[in-house]
Amino acid sequence: MDIKEKIEKLSKDSGLDFSIIFNVSDVKITDAKLHDTIYGLASYKEVFIDINKMVNRIDYELSLFIILHEIAHYKRITKMGFSKYLDNITNEDIIVFLDFIIQEEIFADRWASLVFYLKTGKEFPRNKTQRLDDKCNREKYERRLGPSHEVYKGKTVYDYEEILKNYVIDVR
Ligand SMILES: [Zn+2]
Repeated sequence: MDIKEKIEKLSKDSGLDFSIIFNVSDVKITDAKLHDTIYGLASYKEVFIDINKMVNRIDYELSLFIILHEIAHYKRITKMGFSKYLDNITNEDIIVFLDFIIQEEIFADRWASLVFYLKTGKEFPRNKTQRLDDKCNREKYERRLGPSHEVYKGKTVYDYEEILKNYVIDVR
């Protein structure tokens, strides 16, 4: 099945209109087998989603929310410009790196929640989002994300593309 057919099937099976993911932005959405730990990933060129993994492991609402969340990341990257984005995620200063990523995560969750509500008429449960505006959640997230600063620090566009390849295992 190609991505259009999979999305149609998801809509039919769930009663949620997944086709909205093609209408809320002009981003190219690619179905791919992704690294075991992730369901979606945004680059400055496209959004990758692992539909098979979503179907097997998480519920429909969360699947739709995650796709919208990744679209939000893409929108932000293209709006601010990729070089500014790269400056922040490769910044030598870990505080700049962490603050930037957390701000982007908060934005993506807010945007996805709002669009989910406007397009489906249902409220996406806030306790299923990352809630990084909460001090405790934020600190936990920072401890988890902190070590990856070493991976991104001082890297170039070329390195960025190489890092992406570790997460996108196989494009379907
Ligand atoms: Zn995110």
